[in-house]
Amino acid sequence: MAKIGFIGLGNMGLPMARNLMKAGHRVTGFDLAEDACAALTADGGSRAGSAAAAATAVEVVVSALPAARHVRAVYQGSGGILAAAAPGTLFIDCSTIDVDTARDVIAEAGERGQAMVDSPMSGGVGGATAGTLTFMVGGGEDAFAAARPVLEAMGGNIFHAGAAGAGCAAKICNNMMLAIQMIAVCEGFNLAERLGLEAAKLYEISSTATARCWSLNDYCPAPGPVPASPANRDYEPGFAAALMLKDLRIAMQAAQGAGAHTPLGAQATQIYALMELAGQADRDFSGVIRLLRGEM
Ligand code: NAD
Repeated sequence: MAKIGFIGLGNMGLPMARNLMKAGHRVTGFDLAEDACAALTADGGSRAGSAAAAATAVEVVVSALPAARHVRAVYQGSGGILAAAAPGTLFIDCSTIDVDTARDVIAEAGERGQAMVDSPMSGGVGGATAGTLTFMVGGGEDAFAAARPVLEAMGGNIFHAGAAGAGCAAKICNNMMLAIQMIAVCEGFNLAERLGLEAAKLYEISSTATARCWSLNDYCPAPGPVPASPANRDYEPGFAAALMLKDLRIAMQAAQGAGAHTPLGAQATQIYALMELAGQADRDFSGVIRLLRGEM
């Protein structure tokens, strides 16, 4: 079992760290938030005084930070954890960030004699708690092989997406497709409502017809047909619209840089930005159906 440093004990990081401890690893954590560190120690983890301290005297460092700027601040430069850790430490960054930042940080890790992978995840807080997350990993074969057993303590599906940055590329492509798909399903259910067709009937038909997809079949944005979906609890997330908007903005930046045409991705970004403007960014992303209904 390994000694693991964990940086970023938020909604995702804390349950992930708990699963590492359940698997027998020794976890030393750090977060800027006092209560997050206290929650880790209450469950048997140790607390470090800084990110750099959490990265020393461990074999593996896992991070789950909000955005690229936090990842750069924690990892890079003379005060960063790449410099603080012993050579040969393995770094696994699970944050959803842009491909260029992931490649840049992994390159610096290599220059400092450290192994690193980008390993964004999907499955939400539920998956983080249950230990069933999906990880999309970018990096060299050796680093992936070393990261796999650590990731297995926190997730069910572990994919090697390709070289450095490929995990982040897979994550933003997946979420751009999901955002577009969700808005399409919301438009369908909203139109049905206006035409006097019940949501339950449309679900019965479309969940077995050509429009079927995860957003419709498993996460229906209209209340009723799928009891577990956020639509049945006032769109409490789930996956907050703010996080979807963040991922879409990363995808649009990537599309511009790569010269890829993503007209529906751009439209989806605008639509989720309207949800944010309406003060609803903390609601589940399937709540975008309310925007279409004119309820925001
Ligand atoms: P969060 O905001 O709940 O947690 C992030 C934590 O990082 C916070 O506790 C914050 O205090 C800490 N932090 C920020 N800067 C720090 C620093 N310099 N040093 C130490 N700690 C610092 O976010 P989250 O929901 O746990 O998400 C983490 C990452 O996972 C994000 O990139 C997010 O996009 C991604 N993600 C989230 C979900 C989800 O459903 N929440 C799903 C998949 C992926």
